[in-house]
Amino acid sequence: MDGRFGSGPSKVRPEALQALVRAANTLLGTSHRRDPVRDVVGEIRSGLTELFALPDTYEVLLGNGGAAFFWDAACFGLIHEQSQHWVFGEFSSKFAAAVRECPHLKDPVLSQAQPGDCPSFEPSDCDAYALTHNETSTGVSMSWQRGGDGLFLVDATSAAGGVFVDPLQFDVYYFSPQKCFAAEAGLWVALCSPFALDRIASLRTRWTPPSLSLGIALDESRRNQTYNTPSVATLLLLRDSVRWLNSLGGLAAAASRSRESSDAIYAWASASSFARPFVTDPTNRSPVVATIDFDEPVDAARVCQILRQNGIVDLEPYRKLARNQLRIGVYPAVDRSDVDKLLRAIDFVVETLGS
Ligand SMILES: *Cc1c(COP(=O)(O)O)cnc(C)c1O
Repeated sequence: MDGRFGSGPSKVRPEALQALVRAANTLLGTSHRRDPVRDVVGEIRSGLTELFALPDTYEVLLGNGGAAFFWDAACFGLIHEQSQHWVFGEFSSKFAAAVRECPHLKDPVLSQAQPGDCPSFEPSDCDAYALTHNETSTGVSMSWQRGGDGLFLVDATSAAGGVFVDPLQFDVYYFSPQKCFAAEAGLWVALCSPFALDRIASLRTRWTPPSLSLGIALDESRRNQTYNTPSVATLLLLRDSVRWLNSLGGLAAAASRSRESSDAIYAWASASSFARPFVTDPTNRSPVVATIDFDEPVDAARVCQILRQNGIVDLEPYRKLARNQLRIGVYPAVDRSDVDKLLRAIDFVVETLGS
């Protein structure tokens, strides 16, 4: 059994590690500005275009730093004056906080909901809308339909690759590789529509730290490079995941792997005498990060601790939520049979503690 159920970093497929070892002697320790590594970046870009069925007017950008860096880059290169944010957990609130501190932007408009819920989607008169496809801290997924005149900036860090999306519903769909893509962290990837590319071009005259410049990132990405040196190992792991997800039959097939795993968890919790899904509205329940509350006599932290001692790790809830809860990451790389073993292990530990 593979006991890695983290919500990020998440399980890295053993096959991806073997592919990394095979490529290591020729690629690790070589220049990212030469063809062998640039070809890896090129394959990531074309493989993502295929996986997300992007229209050919869309472009795949990438750079160093991860999704949190991308928030800062968006403050310079995507938000013109004012953005609206759907805030329903830690990650969505952090982007809104970054915008609020930004001296050249107006205070953001907030649409908020309590953790475990999702705000309703009503776009106001802003030039950018900040959505979070999957709020990793609470296990809530949001859906939306385009409306309003702003750019749709979708934080897809824990959704991309494991939840279906229609590219016509976003302008920027950005993520880091250590969640559904089962790779190492430190990189951001952004799938950009022509509307987003126009905005990046029109904001090039705004002073921007070069490392956060999306204009520079666009130029470099078109050459299959990044502005500064990337981790070649991260690129190789990401390339392998993109290949693997495409080989499953594309995004819908990848998403159904996660959906089957999370459905099994929610069904188990709903039938359990001591557990229940934290997210009460079933349509908001995340297909990739399942949050499960325990009833009081059962101590979730103690259960996590015992499972951890037995090699089943990273089921702790998001620290700031401070609930009697397990949070279970079931990205596509997690095997359904391991989910079944996990649920049996939880039942066994709870039964043993109670007797
Ligand atoms: C993990 C996560 C981030 C932060 O990603 P980093 O790679 O650590 O910058 C941002 N948004 C969401 C929704 C996440 O799950």
